[in-house]
Amino acid sequence: MPELPEVERQLEPELEGRRIEELEVLDGRWSRPLPPAELGAAVSGSTIEGLGRRGKYLLLEIDGGRTLVMHLRMTGNLVLVEGEEMLDPSEGRRLYEGERSTSARHLRARFALDDGREVWFTDPRRFGEAFLIDDADLGERFARLGVEPFSPEFTPEALGQMAAGRTVPLKSFLLDQSGIAGVGNIYADEALYRARLHPLSPAGSMKPEHHLALRDAVVAALQAGIDAGGSSIDDYRDGRGEKGTMQERFLVHTREGEPCPSCGGEIVRIVVGGRSTYFCPSCQVRLRRRPRRRAARR
Ligand SMILES: [Zn+2]
Repeated sequence: MPELPEVERQLEPELEGRRIEELEVLDGRWSRPLPPAELGAAVSGSTIEGLGRRGKYLLLEIDGGRTLVMHLRMTGNLVLVEGEEMLDPSEGRRLYEGERSTSARHLRARFALDDGREVWFTDPRRFGEAFLIDDADLGERFARLGVEPFSPEFTPEALGQMAAGRTVPLKSFLLDQSGIAGVGNIYADEALYRARLHPLSPAGSMKPEHHLALRDAVVAALQAGIDAGGSSIDDYRDGRGEKGTMQERFLVHTREGEPCPSCGGEIVRIVVGGRSTYFCPSCQVRLRRRPRRRAARR
């Protein structure tokens, strides 16, 4: 899935202050439970005040104290369209002709802006969705989302507090959006490999040095995805390989049976919490559950 920090960074200056002449919703799944025409009518004519992000949600702030919340899910994407030109903000590049026609085929919603440009929500698998919410309700809606990995609040100490006493495997711990917001299956694997931590280690078994290593590894893994122009990275594979370069950069994810980049040992696949998980059994240390501390000495 596209990297939301990149989408936000690239699109916000283009959209801020623009008026949405029309929002045309072409797929009822995108707007449900609202009928497409109803969501379209509610947003058409609004002015865009900003673009924000919370976890894996993009927030299009519009006038009237309202926000259109969009989730890209597995294969959703926002594309800026200017005549024949199409920019994919998550990759920071213009799309080639073949990609343009693919995008057009998977168009789910179209924002026509007052400067003649358009923003398209494209989504081959159609899991993406959108809903309109009053700003006053945003806090409650996202109250359960955890800390943003690129924010200053994401410290080793914060990670330690989150993990304290938890017996869930580290892999599940990283995927829990109420802890760290926005880490998907791929980045969880890549981060654990970078931190040299076994995905089945209980989260609460980490020591302070592991908190530091894992914090740094999560940020580094996400940053590597962004630097690589990371689109089409979650579990989805484009059969035509149109955006396929990112897979070549994974250290362990989807590399079952291949040599570990560090020790040359074989990368293994297991299933944790229903999700495919790839790791190096030699490099990634399995932490034991910490023995219960005795009561403080008198
Ligand atoms: Zn290894």
